[in-house]
Amino acid sequence: MLKGKTALVTGSTSGIGLGIAKSLAAQGAKVVLNGFGDVEAAKAEFRGLGVDVGYHGADMSKPEQIADMMAYAARDMGGVDILVNNAGIQHVAAVEDFPPEKWDAIIAINLTSAFHTTRLAIPGMRQRRWGRVINVASTHGLVASAQKSAYVASKHGIVGFTKAVALETATSGVTVNAICPGWVLTPLVQKQVDARAAADGVDDAEAKRRLLAEKQPSLQFTTPEQLGGLAVFLCSPAADNIRGVAYNVDGGWAAQ
Ligand code: NAD
Repeated sequence: MLKGKTALVTGSTSGIGLGIAKSLAAQGAKVVLNGFGDVEAAKAEFRGLGVDVGYHGADMSKPEQIADMMAYAARDMGGVDILVNNAGIQHVAAVEDFPPEKWDAIIAINLTSAFHTTRLAIPGMRQRRWGRVINVASTHGLVASAQKSAYVASKHGIVGFTKAVALETATSGVTVNAICPGWVLTPLVQKQVDARAAADGVDDAEAKRRLLAEKQPSLQFTTPEQLGGLAVFLCSPAADNIRGVAYNVDGGWAAQ
């Protein structure tokens, strides 16, 4: 379905980004990976899919590096048809203890980077009369949790950004939507599981159970593959008129 298209997925050396990139590649899309993880291990996951896999190591907190990555994608990978703004970080602390440099980094990586990639991708998408921008927000783009002020602000911000750009592109072949996962067991969440295990004096399995029980009624982690399936759907013709949506995949978290 996506043969001839190129997907750029930020923060795709692990976790959700890697899962989404693999789902898009399985539909025939070329992919541009990005992120600070093990690049060779990430690339190995695409073996056998028969698609080109590129990589650019841009730091998503650095606008000039983002511009260089977008230029690389245009020059060497055929341009960006599908942009998945996924790179993200977390820091957990009460607002009065929140290090200002952590606040700045979270807003830069989780929110401002999507502004830069999107502003640079939209002209080519408009020219080709087709494009998909998929922003990986979070349930925290819709509801809050204590101790996560910067993350919640960045994710609410990206849901608002999604809606605004969806309106700007509404009469074009470019759609802009957000995916809002609940708990997904990735390195980002494992850190929070570890912190919970240490704080409560329980083992890994019990810490996971407690984390889920607090927020996610299904008591199941969402998987990167499920999020990849939704991204593929958003790229399909059935989704041509889905615009500005923030789509929960959260086991019922935001329904409470
Ligand atoms: P992860 O830590 O597994 O992956 C994050 C990716 O971003 C990695 O590839 C990492 O190298 C990259 N990255 C981090 N800082 C970067 C930077 N400055 N420049 C470029 N790349 C950078 O985390 P994940 O859980 O897969 O998170 C992916 C996205 O999903 C994030 O935006 C996160 O907020 C969101 N999300 C995660 C969950 C969850 O439960 N895991 C839930 C909702 C939303």
